[in-house]
Amino acid sequence: MRQKIVAGNWKMNTTVPQGVELAKEVVALGAALKDCKLVVAPPFTHLYAVEQVVKGTAVALSAQNCADHTSGAYTGEVAVDMLESVGCEYCILGHSERRQYYGETDQTLCTKIKLVLDKNIKPIFCIGENLEEREAGKHFQIVEDQVKNVLYTLSAEEMKKVVVAYEPVWAIGTGKTATAEQAQEIHACVRKCIADKFGAELAEEITILYGGSCKPSNAKEIFAQKDIDGGLIGGAALKAADFIAIGESF
Ligand code: PEP
Repeated sequence: MRQKIVAGNWKMNTTVPQGVELAKEVVALGAALKDCKLVVAPPFTHLYAVEQVVKGTAVALSAQNCADHTSGAYTGEVAVDMLESVGCEYCILGHSERRQYYGETDQTLCTKIKLVLDKNIKPIFCIGENLEEREAGKHFQIVEDQVKNVLYTLSAEEMKKVVVAYEPVWAIGTGKTATAEQAQEIHACVRKCIADKFGAELAEEITILYGGSCKPSNAKEIFAQKDIDGGLIGGAALKAADFIAIGESF
C-alpha cells in the first residue's frame, strides 16, 4: 500500500506565533485521521518552534527548500544539516515558484536532492507544466523531462524515499484545478516514467501527490484516482479545518 500524504505548503505566510497556532490546530484536528499522513511545511524561521508542537504527534515537519551547499559563505541560505537539526522529515524541492522566481534549474535540483537524501530527509519533488506548455500539448514531455533530468540521477534506494508532487503551474493559487482525469493521466505517465528506469515494483510504491488549488470541495474526486496518493496544498493549508477536511477526503 502506498503512503497517502496531505502536505501543507505554507509558503511565505504567517508569523511565528501564527504558525505555532496553526500547527497546534492541525495536530488537534488531525489526531483522528487514520488514512493519511499529514505534513506541514512552514517557513524556515518557524521550523524550530513548529517542531516543538508536532514532535511526538502524527504530523510531520517539512522545509520548503534547502541550500545547494552544505555550509559556509552563502548568505541567506539554509543547509540540510540545519533542517535535520530541527527535525525536518521532508523537504519540498523544485516548487514552481522556486523554479520561476529564483532560477532553480534541474541541475541545481540534482545537487539539492542528493544533499537532502544524504541526511535521510525525504524530498517532496515538484514537477509540472505551465499554461503555455499545456496549450502547446507539451505537458507529458515536460513532466517526463523533469523526472528524467533529476530523478534518473538517483539510485533505486534513493528513489524509494522520494515523494513526487505533480503541480500544473496554471493551477497553483489560481483557483483553476486540473480535472481529475487531467491529473490522473499525468500521474500515470510519471509513474510509468519511474517504472521505465527503476522497475514497475518500485514505481508502484512511490507516493505521487497532486497540487494546484486543491480544496475540500474537489479533493475527494482527485484523490479517488488510482495514481493520485494525496495532495500538496497551498492556500487551503492555511486554515486547519480546510487542511484536515482535505485529509479526510480519501
Ligand atoms: C502549492 O503552491 O504547492 C499549491 C498547490 O498552492 P495552491 O494550493 O494554493 O494552489
